[in-house]
Amino acid sequence: MSELYDVTIIGGGTTGLYTAFYSGMREMKTKVIEYQPDLGGKVSFFYPEKKIYDVGGFLGVLGDDLVADVKEQALSVQPTFVMGQKVGAIDKQEDGTFVLTSLTGEKHFSKTVVVASGLGTYDMRPLDVEGSHLYEGKHIHYTIQNLMQYTGQKAVVISENRVGVDWALALEDVASAVHLVNRGSEFKAVYENDVEKLKQSGVHVHMEAQVEQLEGTGVELAGVVLTNGEYIQTDHLLVYEGLQIDKSLYDQWGLATEKGRIPVGTDMATSIEGVFVAGDAAIFPSKTMLIASGFNEAMAAVNSAKSFIDPKAKSQVYSTVIYKHLE
Ligand SMILES: Cc1cc2nc3c(=O)[nH]c(=O)nc-3n(C[C@H](O)[C@H](O)[C@H](O)COP(=O)(O)OP(=O)(O)OC[C@H]3O[C@@H](n4cnc5c(N)ncnc54)[C@H](O)[C@@H]3O)c2cc1C
Repeated sequence: MSELYDVTIIGGGTTGLYTAFYSGMREMKTKVIEYQPDLGGKVSFFYPEKKIYDVGGFLGVLGDDLVADVKEQALSVQPTFVMGQKVGAIDKQEDGTFVLTSLTGEKHFSKTVVVASGLGTYDMRPLDVEGSHLYEGKHIHYTIQNLMQYTGQKAVVISENRVGVDWALALEDVASAVHLVNRGSEFKAVYENDVEKLKQSGVHVHMEAQVEQLEGTGVELAGVVLTNGEYIQTDHLLVYEGLQIDKSLYDQWGLATEKGRIPVGTDMATSIEGVFVAGDAAIFPSKTMLIASGFNEAMAAVNSAKSFIDPKAKSQVYSTVIYKHLE
């Protein structure tokens, strides 16, 4: 752990993984530190079974498959992965290098840092209905890890967010019945065509309603009663009632922030020299919070880190020149 790395990437989402690949391609010794036990960030967490259409080169790719591909690409340059650690502090030493300290006390040493930690760490907000703990795991779920497990089953999605709309539309392909329960009068953060798809779909939408009561044996769930009195028979409840996000760390790391994210220019440099940012963590005019944007920003951040370490290094390279060993 006392080894000095050229680049340490905070976050192993799609941006962090691609940053690791690009950093290795630029022949820098690279480490990735990820808080969750698994790589993939939001894609793995929220929509591993959703098809993604807006990443160049893929006419629809499953979240899980995309993560597997980006992970394989990262592994090809052999970065070091540290899982299950949350970076709590970044301190610059007198010699200009950084010490990153995890909340559990481990220390990591690096010449540069790329922050690819999205909006921070997140945990799902649990369903606040009496007895819900009895059904968690078997009948109540907070992510869709395996869409096929719902084949022929009845499902109720509880959400007022785009995540719930995504889940309901994905479930419709396999489940025998899908209900979507929204406590609000509209869906938040959805794309127009998602709402249109929802209208065209067979998903039963219940607006301005909440699950009030769970019906079942205490082991097997049978159905739910809504606040409007409706009873829905169901085998599974899929809950997305928002996240408990801890995004306070950027301030604690001493970085300038804007709306909880890190403002940057085109070189992805932050307010601390030697610390760069990419992906959802970054904010700049016209920023899009999309996977492909993270890939592009990763290259810029790595090229800046390379120039920071070696000012004579080329500002960018072509993969065909550097990456000969794959041919
Ligand atoms: C429901 C939904 C659907 C979406 N659909 C699409 C789509 O179709 N197409 C598209 O392009 N984009 C889509 N997006 C957006 C896309 O998911 C994000 O832009 C992308 O995942 C951002 O990747 P990232 O690696 O920058 O951040 P994240 O995926 O958030 O990864 C950040 C990682 O950093 C870790 N981390 C955070 N803080 C620390 C710390 N202190 N120490 C260690 N680790 C830390 C987190 O655990 C996480 O794994 C969607 C988003 C959502 C929520």
